[in-house]
Amino acid sequence: MIFHDTIVALSTPSGEGAIGVIRLSGANAFEIINRHVNDTNEKLSFGRFRIGEDVLDEVIVCRFASPKSYTGEDVCEISFHGSSYILNRAMESLIESGARLAEPGEFTQRAFLNGKMDLSQAEAVADLIASESAAEHKLAMHQMRGGFSKEIKTLREELIHFASLIELELDFGEEDVEFAQRSDLKALIEKIQSYVQNLIESFRFGNAIKQGVPVAIIGKPNAGKSTLLNALLNDDKAIVSDIAGTTRDSIEDITTINGIKFRFIDTAGIRETSDEIEAMGVERSYAKMKQAAIVIYLFDSRDEQSEHLKIIEDLKGQISAETALITVANKSDISVSSIKADLKIAAKSGHGLNELRQLLSNQLKLTHTQSDTVVTNTRHLQALKATHAALRKAFEGIETGLSGDLLASDIRESLHHLGSITGEITTEDLLGNIFGKFCIGK
Ligand code: GDP
Repeated sequence: MIFHDTIVALSTPSGEGAIGVIRLSGANAFEIINRHVNDTNEKLSFGRFRIGEDVLDEVIVCRFASPKSYTGEDVCEISFHGSSYILNRAMESLIESGARLAEPGEFTQRAFLNGKMDLSQAEAVADLIASESAAEHKLAMHQMRGGFSKEIKTLREELIHFASLIELELDFGEEDVEFAQRSDLKALIEKIQSYVQNLIESFRFGNAIKQGVPVAIIGKPNAGKSTLLNALLNDDKAIVSDIAGTTRDSIEDITTINGIKFRFIDTAGIRETSDEIEAMGVERSYAKMKQAAIVIYLFDSRDEQSEHLKIIEDLKGQISAETALITVANKSDISVSSIKADLKIAAKSGHGLNELRQLLSNQLKLTHTQSDTVVTNTRHLQALKATHAALRKAFEGIETGLSGDLLASDIRESLHHLGSITGEITTEDLLGNIFGKFCIGK
């Protein structure tokens, strides 16, 4: 589908860089650019961009003829010098020549509508642009290159195979034949379900990579939590003081360790009561802790052993099975702790911090088998959950001897949900929602 209106946008967001790129896409893209730059058949040309008789800038023009372009339409990219005056004038003149200002994400939306990429790949473009760490980049790149789509396609094929067996039976409805052994069907559904379940479970990892792996540092007042946080963040965001229970502003910060983004959750609530052990039970702190993928329990090496064993026991009872607990003895410069800990550090001098960083990134590797396909998108997660639920209905249907047509309808429902991930099934609202979050020019 080639759109009749040609869209134009500045694809360097601020226009303040050394180069500003303006992108055009649509049926008249070449005609419009030819009004401003000498007409040439070259794919790549150097020329003068004119507005009437006046030369605005010397530019490089790339022409991508349909269908071999990002959007599948005729696309033109013009590189200007990055002056905001030049770029604004150029945009104005291109609009006067017939282009229309692009909506957010409209180039990628056109690429999707023209079958250049499916919906999950289009969403990965946004993730790629937003990526801040090596791990995030890797996941977005895998999805953009169609890794996730391929998995969904395989699943759909399995389900279609299943549906066709059932539907074949329906064609012979009168004769009461069963082409598919019910036990085989159940095995097939179970196989697909476990596959979908794996993808659902990968979201915990995927989301952690995207939002930052949530880490809670907890411990008694004065254990050195702020000092440790500062050291890990390499700045002075947290307030360090000798006064126990110093009130702090909410501290939540992000740092990248070994290519993985970590998000430290504020658990200042633990400080708020004077009885430390009781304080460990403060509901709010536990709630915070429950959001964490990793809990670091930090204590002062000089503290009593019995007290710590109790706290650690308590903690283990509170956190979920998937949450990793790392026990860390601090202030090893002034005391050698006899208490068993995963690590001994001195937060103040930085001793042992590299080991702690290593431990943090290792934890993440342990929690995920590093399979290439990881769900990072909430929309995909919802669709997978709905697929799983429809499959469960089908499975129960087989067990209770549900009629073939009802069974087929459950399978179609699961196919519908899977198809919504890659965009085989879409609505205007859904597209508006997805592409509206892109920036203009992408
Ligand atoms: P928080 O209450 O757990 O956040 O503890 P702070 O980070 O505010 O630290 C309490 C006190 O312990 C401060 O005076 C820190 O300078 C000190 N401190 C923190 N880490 C170390 C360490 O590794 N060695 C020594 N000697 N003192 C430390």
